[in-house]
Amino acid sequence: MGLVDHLPRAALGHFPTPLEPAPRLGAALGGPQILIKRDDLSGLSVGGSKTRIFEFVLGDAKAQGATAVIASAGEQSNKLRELAAGANRLGMHPILLLTGVTGPRQLTGNRLLFEILGAEVHTTPIADRFDPALVAELDRLCTAAAAAGHQPYLVYHPGKTGTLGTAAYVSAAEELVAQFAGLDRAPTHLFLATGAAPTTAGLVLGFRTLGLELGITGVSVASPHDASQAHTIAYANRCAELLGIDRRIGAADFAIDDTQRADFSLPATRAVIEAIELFARTEGVLLEPTYTGKAAAGMIAAIRRGAFKPTDTVVFVHTGGLPGLFAHVEEFGY
Ligand SMILES: *Cc1c(COP(=O)(O)O)cnc(C)c1O
Repeated sequence: MGLVDHLPRAALGHFPTPLEPAPRLGAALGGPQILIKRDDLSGLSVGGSKTRIFEFVLGDAKAQGATAVIASAGEQSNKLRELAAGANRLGMHPILLLTGVTGPRQLTGNRLLFEILGAEVHTTPIADRFDPALVAELDRLCTAAAAAGHQPYLVYHPGKTGTLGTAAYVSAAEELVAQFAGLDRAPTHLFLATGAAPTTAGLVLGFRTLGLELGITGVSVASPHDASQAHTIAYANRCAELLGIDRRIGAADFAIDDTQRADFSLPATRAVIEAIELFARTEGVLLEPTYTGKAAAGMIAAIRRGAFKPTDTVVFVHTGGLPGLFAHVEEFGY
């Protein structure tokens, strides 16, 4: 019996995702063996960590009889894209509130895909996901959907759906532990991008509950160290409660590297562009500047400062996000 088997789950993606060796990337860095966990290949629209998360969130929505799902995030949100795709697959109406919108509509990357997926798209200049005024707007959209005859389901990650998303990554930790069992050497460290933090929280909780001691570094994409650490601990421990796990997560269970963090509106740094090009030119694997490029830049910097032995194995979790790349064309300077 797995840790999350009792939760409702909608079959939307392809799991387990591959765990692939990246020998040319490892050789280019002259450091440890590198494995890439290909959650970018999880399927649904274009894959990524959100496909795994929405198997649980939309499984819960379906179990509650929802006919419409409502969520907010930025204009290049991978979450909203996979939500719309998953809702379509399950016959639910996707209603998206795009946050921080002040400029003209730019139909590129994920923003284009929201339209192709047929989502009902609303916008607000509010950017902070914790702002009570944003929550009020989401409530208004729920009320309007109900008035139109829908049974609405609110996807709001500071609330219950973030805890379900964390559970999705507890199950990813179980999946990885099974894959590690088939390797010659146990991985010693794992890197991934930390945004709102459910993904990191789920992996930390899953690995520690299963007794694995590998190091885990969340490379914070936007938040300062302390906020990222606090969000990860809070999601992990709310999820432990939901799943009936006794283990509690603390600051000693993982590291947050905030040296790559940058506001989403800023151009990609040299380190991020270099990381994207290195993955592409050694392994043919595509990253993007908002999440995975920063995580890779953090991992590369750690390898270059000699944090690992050549006999170590480091896992890079590829969380997807490819469409966002196309909102950053100029920054590559080609
Ligand atoms: C959402 C997302 C993340 C961050 O996940 P959190 O659970 O919010 O920390 C990382 N990478 C990609 C591509 C994402 O879309």
